[in-house]
Amino acid sequence: MGETSTAELRRVLEKWLEENGFRLDEARFYSHILPSFRAQTFETLEVSAEGWSMIGDSAGLVDPITGEGLYYALRSAELCAHALLVERPEQYRAQLKDEILPELKLAASLSQRFYRGQIFGDSILERMVALTAQSASIRDLMSDLSPAIRAIRIYARGSIASCPQRWPKD
Ligand SMILES: Cc1cc2nc3c(=O)[nH]c(=O)nc-3n(C[C@H](O)[C@H](O)[C@H](O)COP(=O)(O)OP(=O)(O)OC[C@H]3O[C@@H](n4cnc5c(N)ncnc54)[C@H](O)[C@@H]3O)c2cc1C
Repeated sequence: MGETSTAELRRVLEKWLEENGFRLDEARFYSHILPSFRAQTFETLEVSAEGWSMIGDSAGLVDPITGEGLYYALRSAELCAHALLVERPEQYRAQLKDEILPELKLAASLSQRFYRGQIFGDSILERMVALTAQSASIRDLMSDLSPAIRAIRIYARGSIASCPQRWPKD
């Protein structure tokens, strides 16, 4: 976070739009800042202490490659709520460390290569977009790559409703 200013990102966007023939005179821009932590930040993340806890975006639980945070927001809320209900708030931090942070750390450690890396003279990102547009099997592969999408599918099959039954009794 904080590596590139919003103004700089805006300049990059406008330059790209102009270079690619998009007209800006009547365009309306919308934006929203998402947390995008580095692997080291996830290593030392503090999500709770005496009298407070953070979940979802406020705790930085967003995939730094895809920007997805819905699953992590819902799951961290569940873990946090359960830890508070059983009066063991420290359990939230431990479960987050076991269940969610490894995926996010992995994504964070790959994100620099993903966004800045090159393959055959083009950026990895541009190559992937082109391949995804051309090939159904690459599209299938891409949709399976995101842990958040996978998790949302599991949730969509009804496991949100069954979560209280799956919680341990202690
Ligand atoms: C344009 C866009 C597209 C996205 N697409 C996807 C996607 O496809 N898949 C995906 O997984 N994720 C996506 N995300 C990310 C996802 O939306 C967030 O990670 C997720 O909503 C985080 O949930 P949250 O509950 O932590 O925070 P939020 O959804 O931001 O909820 C926080 C709430 O707190 C309220 N609030 C803030 N301050 C106060 C205050 N002082 N008092 C009271 N209320 C307050 C806010 O109004 C808001 O309603 C997208 C995000 C954006 C911006």
